[in-house]
Amino acid sequence: MNPDLFPDSLASADALEQARIKSLQHQLIRLGDMLGDGLGDEPGGAWIKREYRAVAQALGHVPPRKRDVSRTNARVAEALQRMPCPGCGGMLQQTRSGALRAKCPRCAKTYQLTTQRKEPHR
Ligand SMILES: [Zn+2]
Repeated sequence: MNPDLFPDSLASADALEQARIKSLQHQLIRLGDMLGDGLGDEPGGAWIKREYRAVAQALGHVPPRKRDVSRTNARVAEALQRMPCPGCGGMLQQTRSGALRAKCPRCAKTYQLTTQRKEPHR
């Protein structure tokens, strides 16, 4: 028995929601299989993990991560003010909100910021 894809009557919001959830569940299974095969750890496979997480979250399986990035952003901004690009002396920019990575717009180098406080060499 095939479900009618285009019923004459208007599909209820409930039915649409059911269809959405069903398609998300299929997606989750497919992505889960890919992760099970180790594809998520291969180069270029990071999107599978991201996607899996996003779909799981859409289904309500994973509570949304409540991470306050404003403190990280403030610390990164502060650090970058004191720390010009080691390559060219340019002004580094945080790659994206919450990230501990900085990119130099001038020479396009990316740097990983560490969370430890390092004492300057004397
Ligand atoms: Zn630079």
